[in-house]
Amino acid sequence: MTTPWRPRDDYRNLKVYRTEAGPVEIDLSDNTSLFGSAPSALAEIAAFAHQRPARYPSAGTGPLREGLADWLGVRPENVVGGCGSNDVLDASMRALGEPGWRLAFPAPTFVMTPHFAAANSLRPIGVPVLADGAADVDGLLATGAELIYLASPNNPSGKAASADAIDRLLERAPRLVILDEAYVEFAGGSRVLDAVASGRAVVTRTFSKVWGLAGLRVGYAVGAPALIEEIEKARGPYKVNALAERASAAAVRHDRQWLAGVVRDVREAREELRGRLASIGYSSFGSDANFIAVSVPDAPGAAAALARGGIAVRAFPNAPVLGDLLRITVAPAPICDRLVAAFRELPR
Ligand code: PMP
Repeated sequence: MTTPWRPRDDYRNLKVYRTEAGPVEIDLSDNTSLFGSAPSALAEIAAFAHQRPARYPSAGTGPLREGLADWLGVRPENVVGGCGSNDVLDASMRALGEPGWRLAFPAPTFVMTPHFAAANSLRPIGVPVLADGAADVDGLLATGAELIYLASPNNPSGKAASADAIDRLLERAPRLVILDEAYVEFAGGSRVLDAVASGRAVVTRTFSKVWGLAGLRVGYAVGAPALIEEIEKARGPYKVNALAERASAAAVRHDRQWLAGVVRDVREAREELRGRLASIGYSSFGSDANFIAVSVPDAPGAAAALARGGIAVRAFPNAPVLGDLLRITVAPAPICDRLVAAFRELPR
């Protein structure tokens, strides 16, 4: 049967994002937090039954913007919220990329980046990462691409770009930088203030990782007001629902000390896990995030073996530069004990 419609040309090679992991006992596959959820957010969620769900939330995520601005040391007009940082990344490309422009990104990086670029009629150009898994900032600049995307820390390595490299990027990028700081709380050294000052960089961040609130779907972008307003146009109203807005705004107001504790615990657990895996012959890339990339001879085989033991991890077969690796979310000690025991059983 012929249909009167056809997909947009830009979508022809795109695939729907699906996670392969079904229900599993221990899920270490998506870098969400196993160190708890922001307590003030949980209190807001519990209290939400008494609110009025018949009403829309604020169109432009007002209370959340104010809370974030206070935390980050910027102004509310420097911040725009969305349905996860996925949403604000997509909206940034749609708002600020002219169809046909190039978007340079590190390869490998967050899988949705080239997807959103193509969906917004940009031409994605992968630039191989450095040997340590951090983005090659000079390589990204050398493409001359109008839009440059940098994740720091990068995914899947967990490695952050050096401060000098990000300085060069902010100084020399021809038009626009999208700096993805989804994991920056674990690394420190956020560049939101530099992005705002530069006027040509947007930083995207999220409540999905350190705050332990991935299920609420709240992300945000920070930048100069003129850029933020364009992103808001592309995003549309009401993308952060009322429950998510209340909960995330409460977290950012009241749970900053709690967050510092999570960061400390994750860093400690990460280095402990890397050390234990190294002691049984598995090397991993240095990480500044809440996950590690472990080199294995056969990533799909190793992931399948771990899954049979009830542990989900993300396999990256033959990742550019980095080779076969498993990306594994850092977890509290009892879970890491099980993980290390499962690694001992992997066929070598
Ligand atoms: N950026 C990076 C680098 C990520 O790894 C992720 C999630 N895995 C995201 C952005 C998107 O996260 P969210 O939409 O949950 O904010």
